[in-house]
Amino acid sequence: MQKVKNFIKNELKGLFSPDEINSLTRLILEKEFSIPLADVLTCKFNHLSDAEMQRLSEIVGKLKNSEPIQYILGETDFFGLTFYLDDSVLIPRPETEELVQWIVDSVKNEPLKILDIGTGSGCIAVTLAKKLPFAEVHAWDISRDALGVARKNADKNGVHLFLAEKDILQESVSDEKFDIVVSNPPYVTEFEKGEMQENVLNFEPHLAMFVSDQNALVFYEKIADFALKNLNKGGKLFFEINREKGNQIEMLLQQRGFGNIERQKDISGNERMIKAERG
Ligand code: GLN
Repeated sequence: MQKVKNFIKNELKGLFSPDEINSLTRLILEKEFSIPLADVLTCKFNHLSDAEMQRLSEIVGKLKNSEPIQYILGETDFFGLTFYLDDSVLIPRPETEELVQWIVDSVKNEPLKILDIGTGSGCIAVTLAKKLPFAEVHAWDISRDALGVARKNADKNGVHLFLAEKDILQESVSDEKFDIVVSNPPYVTEFEKGEMQENVLNFEPHLAMFVSDQNALVFYEKIADFALKNLNKGGKLFFEINREKGNQIEMLLQQRGFGNIERQKDISGNERMIKAERG
């Protein structure tokens, strides 16, 4: 149905590249109108109803207003799984899939306890629970709304998470001991805000993204302190990091006595994650 595709293309041209328009068209037709991808590609689908055309105009209007497609459709894919989303949580990023892969690759096939701090949508915790069925996965967040999203995502993907509402800046010990602590904490500085795009700045939760310039590593310090007390011996800490802060984060881990510290780049070549072991 070339007419629908042309409508989307004409409305969005200039605002998005032709490649982006193609992938947005696919996403909208597949996810919102349940049209199989093969039919989208060959234009072999029936006309959209009036109500569907109206919904399509609404979606296109939101895109023109810079709203991310993931929030408009209320879902996104992460690590081959589907996650429900709303604007109380960050949109899961491909870099974070790489962090999850690193964790999956570094564990043995045996029971273990994992804690994800600042779980947001639950993308890390749910994926780990799915890929490591022998693991018990705990997930914390300061935001009750985010925990609601994480719970829905656990249910949607058929896994169980131990969810708790906690502020890691206040939390220093836990009754539980963990084998892995992972976090993708807020790490964008106020200074870096200026370089960010409208679709991120105007729609994603600032609580999940920003830290002050003066105290940019506060979450890394607190979580490292916490991990030192609550990781089992030999347990591992994994962080997603700001690409500008690798040296400083490695140093704060060394100072606390963590060993076997490794950093890894993401697919774009930016230093994006770090792993350390409790001695
Ligand atoms: N853990 C979630 C993610 O990786 C949320 C991270 C955050 O909100 N800072 O996407």
